[in-house]
Amino acid sequence: MLFSNRKRIALISVHGDPAIEIGKEEAGGQNVYVRHVGEALAQQGWQVDMFTRRVSPEQDTIVEHSPHCRTIRLIAGPQKFIPRDDLFEFLPEFVQAFLDFQQQLEAPYSLVHTNYWLSSWVGMELKKRQPLKQVHTYHSLGAVKYKSIPTIPLIAKTRLAVEKNLLESADRVVATSPQEKDHMRSLVSQNGKIDIIPCGTDVSHFGSVEREAARQEFGIAPDEKLVLYVGRFDPRKGIETLVRAVRRSTLWETGKVKLFIGGGSRPGHSDGHERERIEEIVAELGMGDRVHFPGRLSPEELPTYYAAADVSVVPSHYEPFGLVAIEAMACGTPVVASDVGGLQFTVVSEETGLLAAPKDDAAFAVAIDRILADPAWRDQLGQAAKARVQAKFSWEGVASQLGHLYNHLLEQPIADSSPEFARVS
Ligand code: UDP
Repeated sequence: MLFSNRKRIALISVHGDPAIEIGKEEAGGQNVYVRHVGEALAQQGWQVDMFTRRVSPEQDTIVEHSPHCRTIRLIAGPQKFIPRDDLFEFLPEFVQAFLDFQQQLEAPYSLVHTNYWLSSWVGMELKKRQPLKQVHTYHSLGAVKYKSIPTIPLIAKTRLAVEKNLLESADRVVATSPQEKDHMRSLVSQNGKIDIIPCGTDVSHFGSVEREAARQEFGIAPDEKLVLYVGRFDPRKGIETLVRAVRRSTLWETGKVKLFIGGGSRPGHSDGHERERIEEIVAELGMGDRVHFPGRLSPEELPTYYAAADVSVVPSHYEPFGLVAIEAMACGTPVVASDVGGLQFTVVSEETGLLAAPKDDAAFAVAIDRILADPAWRDQLGQAAKARVQAKFSWEGVASQLGHLYNHLLEQPIADSSPEFARVS
């Protein structure tokens, strides 16, 4: 029997299954991040097991992504979709299922990389039971999120406490942008160790489609303009701001502007309500004949949509990183985004796109108009956007930075990383 000399690590993503379809219900950037980081780490010599919760009896327990990277679905609570705010009570079962799985292996894991606060709790519990290094990526911070939503869920107190405890005790927290790190420091804790390692994207996949070919596929005439949204249907994504902005833009009146709003499930799913709400606003504003909802876009379709667009808009109320922005940029499409969070890091205003105040449809209208009205500038912004993503945000680069971090932590004695050694970085 051949024994691999690869170092085995576990990525834990309780609610974000790296092997499922992206773009509907709660599946978004976290799923994409875990999957690509896992696959790229495996290519760079790691043995990667990605743990998530099984949400249906029909799902495979194990999905092999490549010879050294697999998704493992553990049973924790009912095998059905459960919104993330209701998952905390099932986490002890997840911990036990992880330990049971680990027993079949030659050796226990010595490093886990947890994703989102739910998984961070799992990691902290595992650390109580075995020598283990924990790296954590938040993906979203309760302290930021709860400032932007009208109704605070019951789980908020628990989440905020877990997020603080984690920052102060993890061996390393990965912030995906300098803005996210600032939020951790100002809103969560001054203690704990933070490194900044961004999210990434598949630069060659997204750069693979020519603009003209893409536009022909959708029947966009040379004098027509296409504005694009890609993402989940969630009120915090600010799709309403985009619709109102496009309606206000001066170019809309020419009849030459189209708006594509990609992503989301059909009614009946948890995100169906927001989609219906947006469709109603589109109808009220009389925009129906030039607004198109193609539904969930597969990874194969996405590059064509981004490449065909004159501008891709990310109108989120808040975004810790925002993968859609760098995907569009990788396709050479400028981005108009809310001036918040990680979007301030990925989009360089006036160089790769424009930033506008969140929820401000007048500001978004001006920004969209500026880009649509000047094709030469549009091309210049798009080229700069592509160059920025190639230089800073490839998955290979992200995985290699994470790999260095893991190696560094694995070389440290366990005691070094106990909470009392936590330093301010
Ligand atoms: N996505 C997709 N199909 C869709 C809509 C979205 O594959 O129809 C993907 C999108 O390409 C991106 C991810 O979902 O990779 C969304 O990540 P982002 O960080 O922008 O937002 P999140 O969903 O994490 O809030």
